[in-house]
Amino acid sequence: MSKYLCNTSQHLRALVVAIIAFTFMALCSGSTAKAAETGVKGLRVIIDGQSTYYETTDKTVGEFLAGENITVSEEDIINVDMDAEITSSMRIVIDTPFEVLVSVDGGEYKSVETNEDTIGKLIVQLRNDDEDTDYRTTEGVSSSTKLEPGMTVDLVSVTAKTFTKTETIPYETRTVDSDEYYIGETHIAQEGSDGEKVITMKSVYVGGELTETYSIDSNVVKLPVEKIVENGTKKPEPEPEIKAETDVIDAVSDKGFSYSSVITMSATAYCPCSACCGSNSNGITASGIKACYGVAAVDKRVIPLGTKLYVEGYGYCIAADTGSAIKGNRIDLCYNTHYSALHSGYGHTPVKVYILD
Ligand SMILES: [Zn+2]
Repeated sequence: MSKYLCNTSQHLRALVVAIIAFTFMALCSGSTAKAAETGVKGLRVIIDGQSTYYETTDKTVGEFLAGENITVSEEDIINVDMDAEITSSMRIVIDTPFEVLVSVDGGEYKSVETNEDTIGKLIVQLRNDDEDTDYRTTEGVSSSTKLEPGMTVDLVSVTAKTFTKTETIPYETRTVDSDEYYIGETHIAQEGSDGEKVITMKSVYVGGELTETYSIDSNVVKLPVEKIVENGTKKPEPEPEIKAETDVIDAVSDKGFSYSSVITMSATAYCPCSACCGSNSNGITASGIKACYGVAAVDKRVIPLGTKLYVEGYGYCIAADTGSAIKGNRIDLCYNTHYSALHSGYGHTPVKVYILD
């Protein structure tokens, strides 16, 4: 029995729910139908954040606002056109600008019209007015601080300046081996030259003071040219062994040779090349013998040609050549190669010259 009653009440409850639901649906569709018939539309108008619900049969936004005595001035910002058609659940947002007093970098306060609600958005507005300048809030002031009409806002300007500067790219020096030149000789195969680059720099000023400068672009306008130095690897031709003076003097004594006199002369070195003897040189000495190691050029008024000599550090030689610069107490000692002459160690060096008998 109780089970039956229970079932009955469940059926009844379901029936009641169904009736309520049906009635509600009927009412809803009825009111929608009524709104459609009469043209009544619900909408919200939000003025400076204040929201109000309206119902209207007006066709356009302009008609509706005029009917409600809501004036929209030229400075006001409205999110819809005045002649836009009113639709159900429309939201008309009207923001009236207000005045705040803005001081930049501690300067005097100037009036700025805005309808933004925070300092951060005011900064965006100011930045849009002048793209070259950005702003920050002063220390301890949040950019989310709410703006109120008439309030003072202190800002710090952030500006950037770009400029270019030219920098030198120093050339590098490369050394290469060359068997065209003797060991110890160097030759410049290519002169180096510096390159150039133009760097675009950016300086940032905060509150009018320079805070940082950094490069934003770099452009090489001239490439450096490397200097190439050739390092001689050519081995000098072997020279006859030069005996020490004492050995020679001993040898002279041993062989019964003796010397008549010793003169201290200023010694230089040369070879038969055109650099040493001029471009017309044929390698033949004034006395007609070939210029080679063992030949000395002298002033024949001091030492007659054909005189056998012993020169300290050089060895035996014969006075067989002359030279335009070889005057008086000068002696020019011949070597087989230019390299050997260069490295002989004689450069107007005082030497003892033994005049052999
Ligand atoms: Zn030479």
